[in-house]
Amino acid sequence: MDEEKDNGNSSDRPKVQGNWTCADCGVEITELPFQPKEGQPVTCKECWLKKRNARRGEMVQGNWKCSGCGTTITELPFNPRKGGKVFCRDCYRSQRG
Ligand SMILES: [Zn+2]
Ligand SMILES: [Zn+2]
Repeated sequence: MDEEKDNGNSSDRPKVQGNWTCADCGVEITELPFQPKEGQPVTCKECWLKKRNARRGEMVQGNWKCSGCGTTITELPFNPRKGGKVFCRDCYRSQRG
């Protein structure tokens, strides 16, 4: 019953210690607020925040080439990793299929 006294305060949540690499920027991650599944890409807090902001409608401006059809992409909903593959909206959709 003691455990209910701090209900609602998530700052004391136990963190998972480990050794991961951010799927977006490649930075080392040693601590996560959750245990990732095997094979699941993990992202650092910074990239996670970027992605969360992206979901709110913020777009990243740049100049990329679609790995699927080769079209030029000037806007993405996230910041892709350097050298990583990016897809235009059409290819992205058909990929998820
Ligand atoms: Zn990152
Ligand atoms: Zn494409």
